[in-house]
Amino acid sequence: MNSYSNIRKISAIGDPFWERTQAAGMSGVVAKNRGDGLMEVAGKAFINMCSYSYLGLDSNPKILEGSIAALREAGTLNSSTSRVRIKLSLLDEVESSLSELYSLNALTTSSCASAASAVLPLLAAGVLTENTPPLMVFDRSAHFCLSLMKPICADETQVLTSAHNDLEFLEDCCRKNARVVYVADGVYSTGGVARIKELMMLQEKYGLFVLYDEAHGLSIKGKNGCGVVLEEMGGLNANTMLIVSLNKGFGGSGGAIFFDDSIKRSSLLRFGGPLSWSQRINTAGLGAILASIQIHASNEISVLQARLADNISRFDELVPSAAEGDGLPIRLIPMLDEVHAISAAQELMRQGFYTSPLFYPVVPKNTPGLRIMLRANLQDADLVKFCTAVRSVL
Ligand SMILES: *Cc1c(COP(=O)(O)O)cnc(C)c1O
Repeated sequence: MNSYSNIRKISAIGDPFWERTQAAGMSGVVAKNRGDGLMEVAGKAFINMCSYSYLGLDSNPKILEGSIAALREAGTLNSSTSRVRIKLSLLDEVESSLSELYSLNALTTSSCASAASAVLPLLAAGVLTENTPPLMVFDRSAHFCLSLMKPICADETQVLTSAHNDLEFLEDCCRKNARVVYVADGVYSTGGVARIKELMMLQEKYGLFVLYDEAHGLSIKGKNGCGVVLEEMGGLNANTMLIVSLNKGFGGSGGAIFFDDSIKRSSLLRFGGPLSWSQRINTAGLGAILASIQIHASNEISVLQARLADNISRFDELVPSAAEGDGLPIRLIPMLDEVHAISAAQELMRQGFYTSPLFYPVVPKNTPGLRIMLRANLQDADLVKFCTAVRSVL
């Protein structure tokens, strides 16, 4: 028991901190949306400094209009039928436009987590690696939606967990095993990034297969917002697969799997669990994605990326952090202990800024911090005021 996960332990240790966070009013917040990351609780406005909408596309009028237009056109919110059997042409249109945008095969999923639960068992079983079940190596810091699948993968093949970004360990595994799959985040949700270039070398040398979770990486960087991993790789290869969120930086809804021609779309769809059940990205979400694809195909995306990059450098100038200079929008500011993390978040909220206190299991034990997420649609004056407020709680 508990060789690959220990939910009881996670819940026992994490719950008291959640209770305190909730009691301090820093979780379970019910707020009104005023747009552009501005929100309101009990008549008081605050700026959400923990929005995943890195480019501000969640409030984009063209995307909202795209949603409404798609609903009118399709006349149904959900098709409520397995897409394997019957689907609307809108779904095909979205997937072919997304595939074309990034020159790869894109299959949409109702969330990034459902993409993970579809792909990982197939990878473990060897269905996507010429029927050779590979050794699966999960990075210790890989997102919960990936590590949650370890016990299922372990029922198909051998599963190991590596220290974070430990490529020496991974190379050793490659030397000793015919086929290895490495499971990692492209951009980690609590800061930091995969060693993509070095992983490419292991791919070339040993045929290492890498599954990247690019939930945070998509849109914020690269040509047409192809993301941190594809930008660095210069495009997808046969030994790489991505799962992404279309609901974070991308400004749409749901998620997607990006894969190479060598993988059969039908294998993913027919045996990828939730992909063939009743939920797909609903019509409103598909319309939003189509509109967002147009933005990603235009020059507008580089304007937004540049604004985000400016805001990240501005933050780095004013608040030092471990991730300083990495050009990514996620910053984890270490706090003395959980009590400090919660009281600091409370003080920032008093000054009009929402940040998230993070503690185990989201971050390793005894390393609590405040998560801050930067966005393209933050005004400089607000950002400067925010940085001053952050410095006051350190
Ligand atoms: C948010 C997140 C997910 C989950 O995405 P959903 O679309 O909400 O399921 C997966 N991986 C990482 C790294 C994330 O931050």
